[in-house]
Amino acid sequence: MAQMFYDDDADLSVISDKKVAVIGYGSQGHAHALNLRDSGVDVRIGLAEGSKSRAKAEAEGLRVLSVADATKEADVVVILVPDQHQRTVYAEQIEPNLKSDAALMFAHGFNIRFDYIKPPAGVDVFMVAPKGPGHLVRREYANGRGVPVLLAVEKDESGNAWDLAKSYAKAIGGLRAGGIGTTFTEETETDLFGEQSVLCGGASQLVMYGFETLIEAGYQPEIAYFECLHELKLIVDLMIEGGIAKQRWSISDTAEYGDYVSGPRVISPEVKENMQAVLKDVQSGAFAQRFIDDQDAGAPEFKALREKGAQHPIEATGKELRKLMAWVKDDDSDYVEGSAA
Ligand code: NDP
Ligand code: MG
Ligand code: MG
Repeated sequence: MAQMFYDDDADLSVISDKKVAVIGYGSQGHAHALNLRDSGVDVRIGLAEGSKSRAKAEAEGLRVLSVADATKEADVVVILVPDQHQRTVYAEQIEPNLKSDAALMFAHGFNIRFDYIKPPAGVDVFMVAPKGPGHLVRREYANGRGVPVLLAVEKDESGNAWDLAKSYAKAIGGLRAGGIGTTFTEETETDLFGEQSVLCGGASQLVMYGFETLIEAGYQPEIAYFECLHELKLIVDLMIEGGIAKQRWSISDTAEYGDYVSGPRVISPEVKENMQAVLKDVQSGAFAQRFIDDQDAGAPEFKALREKGAQHPIEATGKELRKLMAWVKDDDSDYVEGSAA
């Protein structure tokens, strides 16, 4: 059984006795910063000159400094800029200004696992990775709840890195829901595999193929949208509550029988072989290399794929249909319908 942590296992004073710099104020950055502050932690924000996020952080009353100055003040430096920018921000602005006994905190192990960041001796390296988007990390905390987190320690130079990780996780509300112990390697590899094969890549492709199959056979796109995209959430909610078994319990016998006989036809054993190939590319670093090389070249492949995805007919159908569905609410005020990112 995995190691589990809850609020009673952590001492909030470990993190509230330290000065914390949160670098980046995006999805995770704003959530960590505000939750830490509301838990009584001394937080400052580090952002680049002319950052678009500065006004948002200042509107919350947070003190915003350059990345270098925030780092100089900090006992704990929380790296929450996008994964592809972390190594440059770290090399140019964090490492030269890092206190010799500081700790580095990550929400995903990518740069440590694939050696893009190599912290110096004397510096603790830990991770608290929320298993949910940043806006939910903030919303749940504000409602007295939390999003579950993964905890890991890559380097324990002080001997206290685990206490620090648990304390940090408690301060952002993660231990209200529960924390699970892992390693940077396990978190990084399973996170990349899960998002590519099942959660993002797999689910998006499954939905698009289902939608295409129906409209190519002459059915109305609005009906295809409901059957293949909208209802997915209702099914997934049941899975979260009670596993695949509860989902099968709730649906009709007709749907359950169809699940058994057609599921393995659609997602055939070759799909599992494809997943194993995806996992190999994650483990070998081939995926990380491809992503970072493209980013370093100005992200031509990424931008072209994003554009192609936005052009899929399911998006136009969905945009019109969602206007008619008053109950489908987009809670994230930052998100602009049809925007690239
Ligand atoms: P975001 O894309 O939301 O981060 C954007 C923030 O980083 C903005 O404040 C942006 O400033 C700043 N930023 C971007 N580039 C630089 C730079 N070169 N120098 C200084 N600041 C910069 O990131 P996420 O929150 O999505 O991801 C952060 C980390 O959290 C990653 O490691 C990710 O894997 C992990 N994670 C993310 C999750 C999520 O919910 N998104 C879930 C779990 C983990 P500006 O406004 O000026 O552009
Ligand atoms: Mg991820
Ligand atoms: Mg049905």
